[in-house]
Amino acid sequence: MTSKHRKPYIAGNWKMNLGRAQALDLIKTIKGRLGDGSDREVAVFVPSVYLADVAAVAQGSPLGVGAQNIYYETEGAYTGETSCQMIREVGADRTLVGHSERRHLFGEPDEWMARKMRCALDHGVVPMLCVGETLDERKANRTERVLKRQLEAGLMLLKPDDYHLASIAYEPVWAIGTGEVATLEQIGAAHACIRKFLAAKIEAEIAQTVRVLYGGSVKPDNAAAIMALPDVDGLLVGGASLKPDTFIPIVEFDS
Ligand code: PEP
Repeated sequence: MTSKHRKPYIAGNWKMNLGRAQALDLIKTIKGRLGDGSDREVAVFVPSVYLADVAAVAQGSPLGVGAQNIYYETEGAYTGETSCQMIREVGADRTLVGHSERRHLFGEPDEWMARKMRCALDHGVVPMLCVGETLDERKANRTERVLKRQLEAGLMLLKPDDYHLASIAYEPVWAIGTGEVATLEQIGAAHACIRKFLAAKIEAEIAQTVRVLYGGSVKPDNAAAIMALPDVDGLLVGGASLKPDTFIPIVEFDS
């Protein structure tokens, strides 16, 4: 199976942006301009407090709605955290795991990622594991080592049957929200490294089902070129997902 046989997956990460009215306007506009979802999967990862409202608007459409983060315990004294059951209960069906802002601003360790991935899958929440190197790590030629470490840790508790549900987002930390896009060569090399890791870890047939997305300053004018790379199956879009005028053209990239 080549990337051209995996359904393209375009996802927006709203981060901690948008007021409630703006969030609802945005989701209504995206829903209204979305096709039938047959040739590409589209989802938005929204602030937890808006999940119920946004999921209610998206209901009945092919638009996926997910959380930006989860905690791996099911309930208890974990002030400020959100469980997978809570996310499911309000109508969301997916979550990001290990976004670089969680790892680097909030100090979430690699070990948590395996538990979060397991917890999400056990509760019917489809996880997207985010991995990526910092600028210092890239400059020190440690990109592949970092990716392998993060993949090993994040996928540690997955069973063969889980892989077709999971996706991976390669997001170089230095390209997130900076306007600096990785070159096509850098993206190609990182995605090839991720595919090689998957091929070595699990049966080839299963490895081929996992979609690998790129994220980092994706805009309407670079989306098609990135999507044309052989190992890129989708895009995780931050800043440009906050406005229909920039998100919709990315969703509608010419394949
Ligand atoms: C992100 O938030 O995952 C992201 C890639 O952000 P941006 O597109 O703004 O770089």
